[in-house]
Amino acid sequence: MEVIKNYINGELVPPLGETYLDNIDPSVGKIYSQIPDSGREDVQKAVEAATKAFPLWSGMSAGERSAIMMRVSELIEQKLDFLARAESRDNGKPVKLATRVDIPRARDNFAFFATAILHEEDQFHNMGNQGFNYTLRQPIGVVGCISPWNLPSYLFTWKIAPALAAGNCVVAKPSEITPMTAYLLSEICIEAGMPSGVLNIIHGTGPKAGQAIVEHPEIKAISFTGGTKTGEHLARTAAPMFKKLSLELGGKNPNLVFADCDFEKAVKTSVTGAFANQGQICLCGSRIFVQRAIYDKFKKAFVERVKGLRVGPPDDENSKMGALVSEAHLNKVMSYIELAHEEGGTILCGGKRVVLEGEHKEGYYLEPTVIEGLGYNCRTNQEEIFGPVATLTPFDSEEEALMMANSTQYGLAAMIWTTDLNKAHRVAAALHSGIIWINCWLVRDLRTLFGGMKASGVGREGGFEALHFFTEPKNVCLSY
Ligand code: NAD
Repeated sequence: MEVIKNYINGELVPPLGETYLDNIDPSVGKIYSQIPDSGREDVQKAVEAATKAFPLWSGMSAGERSAIMMRVSELIEQKLDFLARAESRDNGKPVKLATRVDIPRARDNFAFFATAILHEEDQFHNMGNQGFNYTLRQPIGVVGCISPWNLPSYLFTWKIAPALAAGNCVVAKPSEITPMTAYLLSEICIEAGMPSGVLNIIHGTGPKAGQAIVEHPEIKAISFTGGTKTGEHLARTAAPMFKKLSLELGGKNPNLVFADCDFEKAVKTSVTGAFANQGQICLCGSRIFVQRAIYDKFKKAFVERVKGLRVGPPDDENSKMGALVSEAHLNKVMSYIELAHEEGGTILCGGKRVVLEGEHKEGYYLEPTVIEGLGYNCRTNQEEIFGPVATLTPFDSEEEALMMANSTQYGLAAMIWTTDLNKAHRVAAALHSGIIWINCWLVRDLRTLFGGMKASGVGREGGFEALHFFTEPKNVCLSY
């Protein structure tokens, strides 16, 4: 059985307390590796290493840092298939998805920020005869990056890469539920020649290892992606310490389908947008509002397509959906299907656990589930389920669609389906969401900002927003 190690000061080391947690393969429901149950003392070692490495790393030219990060990106590319299989085994997602999306994105995150720093420009404010100002952006020092289990390497590197590119040293913690590709990344960093202590990866639980990172006085900024409740807790700890905080939290995203949409495209993408990665993407459109004139037609086509999504072993080429990430999460999602039933919803398809044959029979599989007949403000339509469950709700007017779409505490992403240009932009402006996709879903340009409003987070990641988060800006004024 593989035993994962922490990556501290350039070396792979066991946790100081020598205790481990079980890591489960959700596709078979069995333990397949052990991960360090790290604590405060491991975090302390990592912070010491990062502090020591900071003068060297921050003192390098952008070109030198970029070259090391590009080597990491190239090694990810070389090991793409191996990493995709590891990601799939750890998370339950189809290997095909990890090969097409997760690992290429980890590679691109490193390449994107490694090259972005070569093109960065700083601001200059001219005061004419009086003098001038310029903005000096300096790395913060040691920063913390904490990520969730749904897109393990994709989101882990989305934080680490800009933090490193901006000249910081990092203490990072992946989710204890999906630690494997973060561990493999530490091996890649060693192979790429990343100087010791620049990146440190600590494994363990949120309350123990994560909390120690958030509380450490020498860690001056925290970039966190995870649940809204955890985000609240983090903010309570970090805000009084005046740490910089970037919080990417939960979502309950609306998908607005107007009668004048490109019907085929709207149906097809709405299915992907609701069920990709077993519905475990913070950006999934799980509340689908359809204009009444096409409601029945849409429902029929949508349900038919969902019924065609094959749930199966992640390494089977034909599986469109794999396993949910854990038994606890499967039970949580199933409890929401039960709740929807109690709230008067009608299950149009799915709703049951899938028991596969052979070695996969204990895996955490669930049918993609579509529900209708629920009020927009019931719990099923207000709380984040984060699984393969979508609801269909008819609407009459644009105003009603907007009212229902904006009714949750969340404000991460939204989709709009219409061929009316004016309506598309009007609705985009009126939606309370940080990311809007018109006639598409999950189309990403890494230069664009990313993040949510309301209970979906504070701050934005992506492009120069992320690089700026990881710097301390200074205005330098010279008067003639
Ligand atoms: P989670 O909040 O349980 O855990 C996220 C990370 O925080 C894990 O690494 C965990 O160990 C750590 N953690 C937990 N308690 C901590 C503490 N006290 N101190 C420090 N760290 C702590 O979330 P999850 O279940 O792993 O992920 C699912 C959630 O993430 C969903 O709500 C989803 O919407 C959200 N998410 C948001 C985005 C986004 O970009 N907005 C992206 C992906 C996932």
